[in-house]
Amino acid sequence: MRVDNCDLHTHTTYSDGRSPVDDNVRGAEAAGLDAIAIADHLFPEGSAEFGDRGRLRERLAEVQRARAWASVRVIMAVEATALDLRGAISVGPEDLAGVELVLVDLSKLTAGVGFAVPDGRLRQLDALFSLYSRLAEIPWVDVLAHPFNLGRFGLDLTLSDLPEGALRDLGQHLKAHGVACELISTFWWWWPQLHPDQVAEEYARVVRALAAGGACFTLASDAHANCSVGNLAWAQRVARLAEFGPEQWADLDALLARHTVGTASTAYG
Ligand SMILES: [Zn+2]
Ligand SMILES: [Zn+2]
Repeated sequence: MRVDNCDLHTHTTYSDGRSPVDDNVRGAEAAGLDAIAIADHLFPEGSAEFGDRGRLRERLAEVQRARAWASVRVIMAVEATALDLRGAISVGPEDLAGVELVLVDLSKLTAGVGFAVPDGRLRQLDALFSLYSRLAEIPWVDVLAHPFNLGRFGLDLTLSDLPEGALRDLGQHLKAHGVACELISTFWWWWPQLHPDQVAEEYARVVRALAAGGACFTLASDAHANCSVGNLAWAQRVARLAEFGPEQWADLDALLARHTVGTASTAYG
């Protein structure tokens, strides 16, 4: 399965998406994709939104039903979120029955990024890079969701502040842990200060440096409605600008197998 023809991050009415699971799956069929991941947000249990584990199980049942008729592979995923700079996340091993792919993002819930931001660029850079390397060390994390989606938080950093060397080191660390990075077509939304063309240019530099360290990538729309499923064009443009070769694409079967092995074991500690 070619990961560059898969949309591995979409939302449904099970979190903040507008379409039901079936409509996203049909959108993936219409777009001629090989696979779609249903990756609704999963916040900590008891959160005001997206924390309900009962809804997670209902979604799994719906994904399983869709598999019976769909002509694309339907992947049960979750989008976890980082909760602090030490690398606590909203999803634990106890949530993973039937979940094939775990994405983790930085969000308004991430202490040190979404709020309570450290003072000064250097401290922010340090905090960010150590957070991403800790996230990569969590055994049940498979993909960093849209890494460096920072422009809507209170940081003093822009994409051009991210140092080449630190990005390469992070890429190496991701490779060592078998964790992929995600390229989404709506990444420009996270940077309202910049024209989407400028985001593409600057993000291509970031992505190229991660890839130089050995990081592999997935593609996604981060669709929040069925009409956006399969929108991979901007992300593919960044991949072209970053001069991706075939070796830069993650092996989807390996990513999924890695996670299944993880869930089968109880050695999370
Ligand atoms: Zn969302
Ligand atoms: Zn998302």
